[in-house]
Amino acid sequence: MSSTLNFAVSRPETAKLLEDEKQLFARTHGRSVALHEQARKSLLDGVPMSWMLTWPGGHPVFVADAQGTHITDVDGNEYVDFCLGDTGAMAGHAPEATAAALAEQSRKGNTMMLPTEDSLWVSAELARRFGLPLWQFGLSATDANRNALRVARGITGRPKILAMNRVYHGTVDDTLAVLDEQGHVVRRPPSFGAPVDPAVTTKLVEFNDLPALSRALADGDVACVLTEPVLSGHGFAPPDPDFHPSLRALTREAGTLLIIDETHLICAGPGGMTAQLGLEPDMITTGKVIAGGVPIGALGLSSQVADLLHEKATLPLTGVTGLGGTLAGNALSLAAARATLSEVLTEEAYDRMTGLGQRTVAGLTAEIERHGLPWHALSYGSRVEYSFRRVPPRNGSEAMASRDPLLEAFIHLFSLNRGVIVVPFHNLAMSSAATSDADVDRYVQVFGDALDTLAAHGAVSTTNGREAGNAAD
Ligand code: PMP
Repeated sequence: MSSTLNFAVSRPETAKLLEDEKQLFARTHGRSVALHEQARKSLLDGVPMSWMLTWPGGHPVFVADAQGTHITDVDGNEYVDFCLGDTGAMAGHAPEATAAALAEQSRKGNTMMLPTEDSLWVSAELARRFGLPLWQFGLSATDANRNALRVARGITGRPKILAMNRVYHGTVDDTLAVLDEQGHVVRRPPSFGAPVDPAVTTKLVEFNDLPALSRALADGDVACVLTEPVLSGHGFAPPDPDFHPSLRALTREAGTLLIIDETHLICAGPGGMTAQLGLEPDMITTGKVIAGGVPIGALGLSSQVADLLHEKATLPLTGVTGLGGTLAGNALSLAAARATLSEVLTEEAYDRMTGLGQRTVAGLTAEIERHGLPWHALSYGSRVEYSFRRVPPRNGSEAMASRDPLLEAFIHLFSLNRGVIVVPFHNLAMSSAATSDADVDRYVQVFGDALDTLAAHGAVSTTNGREAGNAAD
């Protein structure tokens, strides 16, 4: 491939193809469209949670049933699901062991504000997988991150947190910030309503930018660094080989705690990238899939952090301390987590899912090469992203810059209309413990068909350097 090979996207052609797909969607999803319109009377914008509006057909698909890796909608359309609730269903939909544990526990009590024995098993298992000894539970990964930041500020007495630019950690005000063109921390549009200007609470640096990190820590006002081990929000941005060792050394030197957010990279293996790279964070946050899709968030603490917490905080850590909540650590979530971790997301399941991820990358790469496009595909375990760049980005800004919302909307809706659901926010497809080789092959086939359609209409073409497309090297 020539080093100047590039690609061009014809906006009018792609927009026209997208419009055709929207019409096809409306014709084949009549009941979903009608339910959405009806729902506007009682649900804000017709959905129970605003992100459900981000699907490219203009209306969400209303689900009738989801089993394993397959979804049936209210119009009777069937799909292979590679979105998997954006990781929440990475164990597969309605996994048998989790469903059975839920049924059993719900007859014995959902929530008592008292512990059940499952909490011992789940915390010991997370300790074994992730290497941190002590755990607390909440209802979401957002909860876990918010609590981790609070613990870090509480025990260091420092006012700021540091995050990586363009990384999402949930609806945590401190992290809904972004660097502007002058390098100032500003509100991340379209977020709004934060209690204070994020510049007061937050420092941001680009992922992999060690000199900037070092400068930001030098003031001694940073309680913690919160980062994903590999950025995943706009496609993967992998860490440089020296990034994590240097991050750990610099944070230790600065007396700053290190929090690794394993909410997404838990796809890489039972202990996420923390286990794979041998990371030594002070805290770990995760959630989404660990209870098979039942709400849960988990915060792991080192012994040192726990000791400092006992020293600094008023015990017990009731809701007034800013940690915990009535339903946090409930019996139902922990029964689901025990069943999911012990019987579904096993080592063997991870090995299989990693193989499916590799199979997906091989298939996508073949299609990308067949069309001579300067794109790439990459997997971490079960999670696969393709990106409109020849090589992976190094940070969140580079990842953002490679996005093409129109092109993505077309490919996503084309796939949906042909029975394949992918994550609507970027070019992510995930295999679950229930995904088969045939499911992966179906996804790759539809992706190839989408590229054929784009090429046949001159919507995407390689330019061999004659014209700047959207790709960046
Ligand atoms: N951490 C990361 C890295 C995420 O991407 C997300 C959400 N996608 C969260 C935390 C928050 O998860 P939740 O919305 O389930 O609380």
